[in-house]
Formats: sequence, structure tokens, C-alpha cells
Amino acid sequence: MTRTKALLLAAGLGTRLRPLTYHVTKCLVPIAGRPLLDYWVDQLVAANIQDALINTHHLADQVRAYLDQVNGRGLLHLEETYEPTLLGSAGTLAANPHFADDADEILIIYVDNFSTVNVKDLLTFHRSHDDPLTMLLFHAPHPKACGIAELDDQDRIIGFQEKPQQPVSDLANAGGYVVNASTYREIAALQAFDLGFDVLPKYIGRMRGFVWEGYHRDMGTYATYLQAQRDAVDLLQRAGKWTGQRPAVFLDRDGTLIEQVHYLSRPDQVKLLPGAGEALQQLRQADYLCVLVTNQSPIGQGLFTEDDLSEVHLELTKQLAQHGTQLDAFYHCPSATQLRKDRTTVEYYDRKPGPGMLFKAAQDLQIDLTRSWMIGDMVSDILAGYHAHCGGLIFVETGNGLEGQDIPAQVQFHKVTDFPAAVRLIMTNQ
Ligand SMILES: [Mg+2]
Repeated sequence: MTRTKALLLAAGLGTRLRPLTYHVTKCLVPIAGRPLLDYWVDQLVAANIQDALINTHHLADQVRAYLDQVNGRGLLHLEETYEPTLLGSAGTLAANPHFADDADEILIIYVDNFSTVNVKDLLTFHRSHDDPLTMLLFHAPHPKACGIAELDDQDRIIGFQEKPQQPVSDLANAGGYVVNASTYREIAALQAFDLGFDVLPKYIGRMRGFVWEGYHRDMGTYATYLQAQRDAVDLLQRAGKWTGQRPAVFLDRDGTLIEQVHYLSRPDQVKLLPGAGEALQQLRQADYLCVLVTNQSPIGQGLFTEDDLSEVHLELTKQLAQHGTQLDAFYHCPSATQLRKDRTTVEYYDRKPGPGMLFKAAQDLQIDLTRSWMIGDMVSDILAGYHAHCGGLIFVETGNGLEGQDIPAQVQFHKVTDFPAAVRLIMTNQ
């Protein structure tokens, strides 16, 4: 049996995904609530790969904690190679020359791509030809920004150019290779820095291209990263891997359900907006889960505590009970933001406009996001719902308003006066 090991290249700083990657290392940025690396681990396990090595640098402790979890599951043994200074992709091979000693072939993956590539098929293809290297290719929407391959009629790569002015095809390097063990050692011995620039040109005419026709997205920009959240919901649903069944209404708190108060921190400041109790009752009777999602950065700033927030939510629960209703769940994000006035940039995944709280709720409560709604009074609420692929987004005029920040044109949303009007809209759109 062929023994395959995997080398996961994950140590980059993720500068293009800042400010998110100030707090979370690139390979662990969440996609639909799960760390990006988790999807790759699943794919390696599905291809019967049992040993992998991952390089680390920025926020290495986060990766170590993740490795403990993966290794605890016992399906994949994942080891770390720490780089105090970034070595470059080929440099990581040079630093681990013996990794291939007990293997027949090595799969090399750049973990900053989100891809549904079938690793088993990629390995089968590699074993079907005599060349020492296989490059994973995808159809790039912007070939000029990629490394582009030219294939002959036997899928042999006869030309390869980084960021060509005049691309010969749209077949782009997808950041995945399979190499024979002897080739791995050969590349390691080159002591090169970058695989794309320094190594691949040496293999032109001696490597083949495996074209992945399915989904593949390079996390090249912040926008594509956010788009990947919505894509993931579609992909998981199509693959039957999204177990969520029930629709929910995600509700912002201040300015949507209760009166807007600056830094609300005491129970006596909680005042339900007119008609809010009845409207919530109506939603629950129509079988919607009602989930509160609220940013609470003053907790992160030390202005009040988790206990203070619990008191406030206890008071909210009491007031709702007087209307014979309740919320099904509460989620809050205590992270303190540096971006006080910018409500459109995702700084923390869980903090709106990040979709993290919605994905967490979807997982906990088995929610079907595409049949769910998000209601809020700020651009960050609408965007959080958009990133989580909610089916409907409703802006209410009872709170802070857009504060001069427009909702991007591709985001379709409704605008109504208040929460009861939003509920009427939901009822007529069922
Ligand atoms: Mg609000």
C-alpha cells in the first residue's frame, strides 16, 4: 500500500485578512463557524492519510491547542514544525528533509485555500502517471493574479508562469502538490525559498496537472474570505452535511428589541420597545426560534462585567414573560473593538458584522440559516446576517441608524419602521 503523508503550509501572517488575523492565525480563521484547517483535516482523513506536519509561526499557541484536539480524536496524527523566522514554502521542506523518509509520497497543501478538492482523486491521479510531481489546478476567475499552467494533451505541464500579463489558460496553481518521496528529498536539498518561484520552473515538462472542477477559493482578499462563509453554507447544504432544520429570527438587542441606551449595563435601563413582546410571541407561535445576538464590547473594555450582563438579560427575560413569551437563546461577543466607528469591517469573527454568533447558534440549535432572518438597527447587524447567509435581512428604524455607513449594494435588505413591522413582513414572506 502506498504510504502518503501530508505537509500543511500554514505559517503565513495572513496580512490580507487583517484585522481578523491580528487575533486568530490564518489557518484557523473560521469558515461557517469552523476553523479553515478543520476542513482540510476532514479531507486528509477521508483520503486515509494518517500523518501530517504543519508549520507554525504567528500565534503558534492557537495552532498547538488545535493540534491537541485533532490528535485527541486519533484519526490523524498532526505534528508541528515551528518557524521562528518564516522560511518560505520550499524552506519548510529544506528544514524537514527527513519527513519523507518513511513515506512513498507527500501531499503538500497551502492551508489558506478553501476547497472541496477530493484528495483521494488527486492521489489516484498522481499514481497514474510516471512524473515525480502533480500540481493541483483550478479554473481561476482572475488568471493574471495567479500562477498559470499550460498543459499538453496528457496533462503534462509544459509551461508555468507566475502572474502572467497574457495568461495562456485559466488553469491556476491551487496550492496543492503531490510529490514522490525522492522528489521531496530532492526539493529539500535545493535549500530554496519559494516553491512557486524557485522550484516549480525546474519541473516543467516533468510534472502533471490535476484540474479540480469543483469549488476552490483562494482566501486572497478579505472580500473572498467573507464570501466563503456564504459559499460554505451552500456547499454543506448541497452535500447534506448541514443538519439545521428550523428557521430562526436573529435579533439585535439595543435599538431593535429594547430602547437604545448608551452602554446599557443595569436592569433598570431595560425598556422593551412598543409591541416588541407581542411581536416576539407571534414569531415563536409561528415556530421560529428567536435568538438574541448582541455585541458587548464594554465587557472587553472592562466597563461592566459578564455578571452585569446576566442581570440585564434576566430583567429582559422577566419583561418578556409578562407578555407570555421568551427568547430561545442569548449570544454575546465581549471582544473590545479598535474599530469604534467602522461597523462594516470584521475585526472579530463573533462580533457583528462577523457572522460567528449566528453560526454558533445555528450549530447549537440546528438552525437552517437560509430560511432564517436577521433583524437589527445597524449596518453591522445586516452584514452579520448577510455573512451567515440568512434568507432575509431587515433593518429597523428604532435605533442608531446607518451612522453614515452604507450597506453594500450586493446586500439585499428590507427597511421597516420597527420590530413589529419586521415581524409582519416575515409573516407575509413565509
Ligand atoms: Mg442595535
